Amino acid sequence: MARFGMAIDTRTCVGCMDCVVACKTENGVPEGFNRDWIATESVGTFPTLHMEIRSERCNHCDNPPCVTCCPTGASHVSDRGAIVLVTHGECIGCKACLASCPYDARFVHPEGYADKCTFCVHRVQEGLDPACVAVCPTHCFTFGDLDDPASAVSRALASRKAHPLLAAAGTRPRIFYLD
Ligand code: SF4
Ligand code: SF4
Ligand code: SF4
Repeated sequence: MARFGMAIDTRTCVGCMDCVVACKTENGVPEGFNRDWIATESVGTFPTLHMEIRSERCNHCDNPPCVTCCPTGASHVSDRGAIVLVTHGECIGCKACLASCPYDARFVHPEGYADKCTFCVHRVQEGLDPACVAVCPTHCFTFGDLDDPASAVSRALASRKAHPLLAAAGTRPRIFYLD
């Protein structure tokens, strides 16, 4: 089984929000909610400070507290590339998973279930890239199987230094930001 992940180039992201718009359109994300968002952070020390712009979403963690805390099994690691998903019909909207996620990646959909990035599993299983990846005008994203050394994402991570967000939280995120 693949173990999907992303490498995102913080040097080329211009914060255009095309990834955010593409996700909302592709996934019918309701008004007032987002599965992905743009974060900005000043990085470095004076006088070499720079503004890092990042496209963020669920990290599809290898050690996901949102799955272990879910009382119904709605939150699960799917057998389609180890993507962390929510089975809508099994979710009781208790918000335990929202509280457990260090990345604030989840929200309760107006229909009552926990929702978040799905890595566009419906596209990935057709051999397509996720919508946010496909639309990026500066090609910030590389998506693929982290366990395949020949995949584009593995090669991107082998070629540059990279860091996940909030590594100390211990969830083992599968999204890496190229330095
Ligand atoms: Fe769960 Fe949050 Fe990790 Fe996504 S980022 S898998 S919602 S803990
Ligand atoms: Fe599980 Fe739904 Fe509760 Fe989240 S809100 S922990 S997915 S039952
Ligand atoms: Fe949205 Fe799909 Fe990108 Fe996740 S992978 S942020 S669901 S477009």
